[in-house]
Amino acid sequence: MEDFLAAGEGHRDLPVWRGAVWDAGLSGDDTALTAFLERWYLRHPHVPVVVTDDSPSTARALAVLRGKAADLAERSDSDGITNAVIHVLRQASETADAHAREGQRKMLVIGAHPDDVEIGVGGTIHRRAEAGWDVTVLTLSHGACGGDPDRRRQEAEEAARIMGAHLVMENLPDGAIVDNSGTIQTIERTVHRIQPDVVLVHSERDTHQDHRAVHRATLVAARRVPRVACYQSPSATVSYRPNRFVELRDRDVKSKLDAIDAHRSQAASRWYLEEELLRSTARYWGRFCQSRYAEPLEVIRDATHLGYFPEDHVV
Ligand SMILES: [Zn+2]
Repeated sequence: MEDFLAAGEGHRDLPVWRGAVWDAGLSGDDTALTAFLERWYLRHPHVPVVVTDDSPSTARALAVLRGKAADLAERSDSDGITNAVIHVLRQASETADAHAREGQRKMLVIGAHPDDVEIGVGGTIHRRAEAGWDVTVLTLSHGACGGDPDRRRQEAEEAARIMGAHLVMENLPDGAIVDNSGTIQTIERTVHRIQPDVVLVHSERDTHQDHRAVHRATLVAARRVPRVACYQSPSATVSYRPNRFVELRDRDVKSKLDAIDAHRSQAASRWYLEEELLRSTARYWGRFCQSRYAEPLEVIRDATHLGYFPEDHVV
């Protein structure tokens, strides 16, 4: 029997069984083959086996089928064996990718302007991205009221990269975003494409008209998303009422501050970008979850059953 091993992806230096070739010509009859396959799949349920034989008979083919071997190739046909191995490896890798995609949590964070989501939940984005979540930031305008749109786009891209998120940027009118069907459809495009488990957005309790419009449009666009919660913008009113707190580690706070720092064009003119204020705000919310730092969320809907996030249920 020959084994085909590949260096372990995601397993550091350990080799990982990717499959095996069982040579029936050398290793015995159909009974031995069946016994081998049974033992093999008990130990390695997801690792396929290619069987080779001098001249495969119908009985051999049936034994291969019964034993759920991945393929049968003629022993002298080295190209055929290679092709079978490649085919099996490709299938195994596609299955592994599909499993990884299925298990990966997806979070969509929506903001009206560049820097909104960084201020609200920059630490949460970093924390979840580092834990393996697929996080997308959807920014609905280029923030033209705050400076050159191209520069703001570049800053937003850098900030997203720092937090570990993908960026999608739309071009709704800064200062005049409304919660009409156009805005809803714009948000729906990304919601449908990503199919997020969680959506985070501005709160309704906010003095900025764009933030309120994005909040309302998102509630419609994300109506089938199981979890929706609202982050705190600097323009949130005193009625903002969080009921969930995401604990942040020092490195999450650092990533948040670095991401906000990427918005250099805004630093001089925006009082709410001052590091001391950002840090002390996170420090303040930390008292609600016995943590040094935290970010607050106002949960709108939490429709998933208990145990949905067994490893980390928050947000
Ligand atoms: Zn904003």
